Amino acid sequence: MITALRGFRDIWGEDWEVFEEIISTFKNRLRDFNVAWIETPILEPLELFVRSVGEFTDIVQKQMFSFRDRGNREVALRPEGTAGVVRAFVENRLSYPIRLAYFGPMFRAERPQKGRYRQFYQLGVEFIGFSGPYADAEGLISAYLPLKDLGLKVKVFVNTLGGEEAKVKYSEKLRDYLMDLDFLCEDCIRRRERNPLRVLDCKVCSPKLSPPDILEMVPKNERDNFDKTIRILEKYGVPVERDPKLVRGLDYYTGLVFEIKAEELDAAQNTILAGGRYDNLIYQLGGENIPAFGWAAGIDRISLIYKPSQKPKDLYFVVRTSDEYFEEAFEVLMILRNSNKRADMVFEEGKSLKAQMRRANKLGARWVVFVGEEEVKRGVVKVRDMETGEEFITSLD
Ligand code: ATP
Ligand code: MG
Repeated sequence: MITALRGFRDIWGEDWEVFEEIISTFKNRLRDFNVAWIETPILEPLELFVRSVGEFTDIVQKQMFSFRDRGNREVALRPEGTAGVVRAFVENRLSYPIRLAYFGPMFRAERPQKGRYRQFYQLGVEFIGFSGPYADAEGLISAYLPLKDLGLKVKVFVNTLGGEEAKVKYSEKLRDYLMDLDFLCEDCIRRRERNPLRVLDCKVCSPKLSPPDILEMVPKNERDNFDKTIRILEKYGVPVERDPKLVRGLDYYTGLVFEIKAEELDAAQNTILAGGRYDNLIYQLGGENIPAFGWAAGIDRISLIYKPSQKPKDLYFVVRTSDEYFEEAFEVLMILRNSNKRADMVFEEGKSLKAQMRRANKLGARWVVFVGEEEVKRGVVKVRDMETGEEFITSLD
């Protein structure tokens, strides 16, 4: 037997329906934010991720599925969505401001565990050409509302990187602080030299640190923006908590950063959505100097905690009293489907009415539609509601 690769999984049936409910909840909300949907390639030039996510990040150093293709080009399965969307924005010269949204599989070679897979699904947005506290606030609100619609209990954590200059200054100050520590893990000993911010999102070391606060380095106007964003969020019913160690694992962020955590998940995998402001990435990837803000939701993790609405499956199951009425039964099936009803029937010949009823039960059909001599003669069908046992006769036109 050939099995799926480690960390890769199949999603089908009810689990896929849960996925779809989550996605459509996001879609409904994001529609109100006037987003346009975009689909970008799963395979991209490796360099795109090195330049955007950052060479000295875990994603690029340890988690990427990258290889040489048949033309000897260095390519990678996308580990996240922002880089590709920004590349598409620049390459296709999209007009802006524009709010883009995407959904699709992402790939990271991480150690698989519950809520952490090597192929996982993100739904995300990139709001391009918007800046200032109202833009930051609306970006975060666009992430929070769908999660509320799904009925999830969440907490929102925010921080600011204070702009590119503050980020660089803080990195240096943080490096000095980290240099004196003797308990860092091997990875962090390397990180503190090349990319000290990344030490703050190390799941092992970060909890043991009391680093200097970035706010000390954030210029006044950025600080005011941050405070104002929080006030706007609170006014619109999004309670936030500041996490001074929150910096996110990707290098392109420059301003507000945030993470939304679900109370019901284990700490190692409880971030269900994360994002922030990245004002330099578009320029870095060859575009104009355009500010932007984005987030991505982890649909696999949300599906672990989302309780789907318990609607009965409104399936109509057409049964025939004998194969003589196969043609009529098929006609009824098509009429039902043409009027947008989920409908099915047994296609094999020689199945007794009882066997057909068993199939209807197995599929959880709500309605059984009978086609027999009497019905065909009168041009009607008999319908049984399987929940109440009630029956009625109806014509189908
Ligand atoms: P974590 O700290 O849990 O590794 P991350 O910071 O690497 O998350 P992001 O790059 O910000 O994650 O991706 C946004 C969201 O995508 C995460 O909050 C999470 O819900 C989801 N996600 C990231 N990696 C995985 C994965 N390997 N499997 C499932 N979901 C994931
Ligand atoms: Mg990660």
